[in-house]
Amino acid sequence: MYDMAKKLIYIVEDEKHIQELIRFNLEENGYEVECFEDGETMFEVAERKKPDLFVLDIMLPGMDGFEICRRIKENYELKKTPIIMLTAKNDELDRVLGLELGADDYISKPFSVREFIARVKVAFRRQADSFENDIKRVSVGRISIDFERREVYKDSQIIDMTFKEFELLKLLIINRGKVLSRDMLLQKIWGFDFIGETRTVDVHIRYLRQKIEDDGNNPVYIETVRGIGYRFSDKEA
Ligand code: CA
Repeated sequence: MYDMAKKLIYIVEDEKHIQELIRFNLEENGYEVECFEDGETMFEVAERKKPDLFVLDIMLPGMDGFEICRRIKENYELKKTPIIMLTAKNDELDRVLGLELGADDYISKPFSVREFIARVKVAFRRQADSFENDIKRVSVGRISIDFERREVYKDSQIIDMTFKEFELLKLLIINRGKVLSRDMLLQKIWGFDFIGETRTVDVHIRYLRQKIEDDGNNPVYIETVRGIGYRFSDKEA
């Protein structure tokens, strides 16, 4: 499933010390890295050689990280390449905007190198999963889900699910490790294109937790990401 060739990562970050820190640690982990100080230069190179992942800072000279993200998503050749945004600590708006523009994940500055490498690995693992477009069954920890038969199991015990609960769990589990916003879940599962009815999502998450978690009040599978939404844990429980 994994490509044996080195994965190529493009980083757009104008702070030299962060560039060097990221580059060093990614190379140590077997990745190939190109650093750019601005988006314009990066796009010139990306036109000739596509990367496997983008890491984008937000505050940059020239176009900012959001603009770069938007242009990547508009580019037919690049739009499927995963994007990780580097956001300022506690800046919820930055995170939400990044995810809405199609970034796959974000890391708040200052970040630990370990956390950063872990996020990069998650992005690649998710990409590998989505290439397996004929997935029929996915297991995470003690939970497994059979997409064809629409059945969910915990420790090989079948769990009753309503239609919406199944769809919600499916979306979360396919995107495991990735934060899904309430608005996005609402739109994908309930088809609402207006903002504000996100309580519906919370209620269904509560039902789902009661069904799949050992303790619905201390969830280990479905994590709450404060102010944004939910994430299915990527930890191998
Ligand atoms: Ca910067």
